[in-house]
Amino acid sequence: MRRSEPKVPFECELPQPFIVKMQQMLGDEAEAFLSCYSQPRTAALRLNPQKAAQVGGAAELLRRLPAEWRLTPVPWCPDGFYYDAEARPGKHPWHSAGVYYIQEPSAMSAVEWLDPQPGEVVLDLAAAPGGKATQIAGKLGDSGLLIANEIHPARAKILSENIERMGMARAVVTNETPQRLAERFPAFFDRIMVDAPCSGEGMFRKDPEARGEWSVEQVAMCAARQQEILEYAVQMLKPGGVMAYSTCTFSVEENELVVQQFLARHPHMSQMRSERIWPHRQRGEGHFVAVLQSAGAGLAATTSSVAPATELVAPRNAAARERTRREPRPPPAPPALAAAAQRWRELARELLPRFALGAGEPLLFGEQLYWQPHASGCPFNSASLRGLKVVRPGLHLGTLHKDRLTPAHALALAASADHASRLFPLRADDPAAAAYLRGEELPADPAAKGWMLVTVDGFPLGWGKASGGQLKNHYPKGLRRTDRRTQDTD
Ligand code: SAM
Repeated sequence: MRRSEPKVPFECELPQPFIVKMQQMLGDEAEAFLSCYSQPRTAALRLNPQKAAQVGGAAELLRRLPAEWRLTPVPWCPDGFYYDAEARPGKHPWHSAGVYYIQEPSAMSAVEWLDPQPGEVVLDLAAAPGGKATQIAGKLGDSGLLIANEIHPARAKILSENIERMGMARAVVTNETPQRLAERFPAFFDRIMVDAPCSGEGMFRKDPEARGEWSVEQVAMCAARQQEILEYAVQMLKPGGVMAYSTCTFSVEENELVVQQFLARHPHMSQMRSERIWPHRQRGEGHFVAVLQSAGAGLAATTSSVAPATELVAPRNAAARERTRREPRPPPAPPALAAAAQRWRELARELLPRFALGAGEPLLFGEQLYWQPHASGCPFNSASLRGLKVVRPGLHLGTLHKDRLTPAHALALAASADHASRLFPLRADDPAAAAYLRGEELPADPAAKGWMLVTVDGFPLGWGKASGGQLKNHYPKGLRRTDRRTQDTD
């Protein structure tokens, strides 16, 4: 069913005190601003750099996307592209393959301005559904570490699914309060993203419910909560570290005033940049971003080399060694973990002989085997997460069944077709791709036997198991496409 964009003037549906506030704030510009509410909202997608690299770069990936989507660049994000109002990229099989993330265009600005670098250790403190977290993880590439946190359990699960869909191997997902994270990770992160819960004035076009929930009291309540979240965030920032504070709201109370009061309480922090995106001046729903830096040595140039797979990373300098001494040490690998790691090596040799895990360590949660990423010089290991609510401690490698390991869906999405020994290739315009995403069995070559990496136009979609001329479908049941399940996530 086509989503029809309402053409009625929205001013009459906007809360009256909001209209008055915006008129006081914008003066002559208020009319242009308010008239935006009678225009359709903007929609955009952000290319996954990891998938772009698999086809030789973003330009080539862009060339392969449907011409009728009429993609045009988002000025502040090199991977961001507006798409035509009639396009439905959330329904295309490439969405399930993590080739792009559907994201409100102005929301793409904050991570660009936070500017995470490969090899860094980054926290996204309020991360669900994952637009900014997947953008950060894409910039960390094959090194570094992202902790993506979400306070609400159901939203943390969606965050984890989106991180898996985008094939991000170097991300850990936690479901914690900012306070508990601050107790565990003092002065720990190179960069922190604080995309704070807010009154959502920039969501009024996309989400009519946000209009109904708005009130002057809600703005004040959000501002108080934002101050509290920033207090915990700053405790986790390294000397010289950089933090971005963002909201999708227009109120000065939740933006400039929050930052001003925060800076007054923390003289060691300074503002590097502060920007607003306005829906009547740019193509976007609206965003506020302030980039703040802590005094200190500053971030080193980060072209860190990553230790080979299965090797724990040795800290490079005295400060890092000292931090490691203070950190809880991981316990020696119990026999069950050693056995599971052996199963993994066997599975990888057979299915993904060219896949490299990067620096990290194996972790066993019950029957589930994960690979927890480590970052060079950072004292982060399995003991660092002990006692915290963890949704995903790293890349899910597989599930143990007696002496076998079943490959995880997340592993398929983190791999590329080049890594695999056996492929089951599909094309996006082939009805078999839609059938696979609905969870159906597919006819297979009678000679094919065992696990196959199912791909769509060369991008991994999931696993299937061939036997007797059929491919048994291992696309996760919870992700299978039904008419009810919408693919647009952000
Ligand atoms: N960064 C996300 C993205 O790009 O997809 C959007 C984050 S949304 C603006 C703010 C998030 O903060 C919500 O997921 C909300 O559940 C979470 N949140 C609500 N209360 C919070 C609190 N007290 N501390 C931390 N996060 C909170």
